[in-house]
Amino acid sequence: MENSAFIALGSNIGNRYDNITSAIKLLTGNPEIKLVNYSSVYETDPVGYEDQDLFLNMVIEIQTALSATELLELCLETELELGRKREIRWGPRTIDLDILTFNQENIETEKLTVPHPRMTERAFVMVPLVEIDPNHKIHGLEKPLNILLNELPDREGVRIWKRKNGEDVFAPIES
Ligand code: ATP
Ligand code: CA
Ligand code: CA
Repeated sequence: MENSAFIALGSNIGNRYDNITSAIKLLTGNPEIKLVNYSSVYETDPVGYEDQDLFLNMVIEIQTALSATELLELCLETELELGRKREIRWGPRTIDLDILTFNQENIETEKLTVPHPRMTERAFVMVPLVEIDPNHKIHGLEKPLNILLNELPDREGVRIWKRKNGEDVFAPIES
């Protein structure tokens, strides 16, 4: 399991929490993936296309023996398995799985760009990511994630929904 990756999850159709936890189970059910850490779950205002329901968002950290391309394929398959359809750009979705980082690599292929090109401007990605790894530096960027987050304007659009290690303990890997 030599590769390390952060994956952002989002859902705003159906049972959003079920969609997110099912996606985590499907991903980490793969023998080549180990769940290392996960954030709280946040409820967030839609960004980009605003006439849609609120999202739940979270971020997980994994170790994997898969390549970045294999991991993307698994993410896309998992989205389909959970009923994802692509209609409106940035529109409603049962589940969205974005690879944020893969080791310290810069990847640019037709199907995959890593680090995810819009991640640092999105509070719904940065808040959960900073919760798990505040001092992380994205390859090529001077500032650590927590400083980048402090510079974002729309942080109030991201509200805690289910706290990790809270009274209401969140355990996405429980069987
Ligand atoms: P955004 O990428 O702005 O968050 P989106 O998640 O709504 O938008 P999708 O329709 O889910 O976009 O994905 C379109 C394509 O993006 C995927 O089929 C995939 O090939 C490509 N893609 C490129 N880089 C990544 C990445 N880092 N993680 C996931 N998909 C990516
Ligand atoms: Ca996305
Ligand atoms: Ca996506």
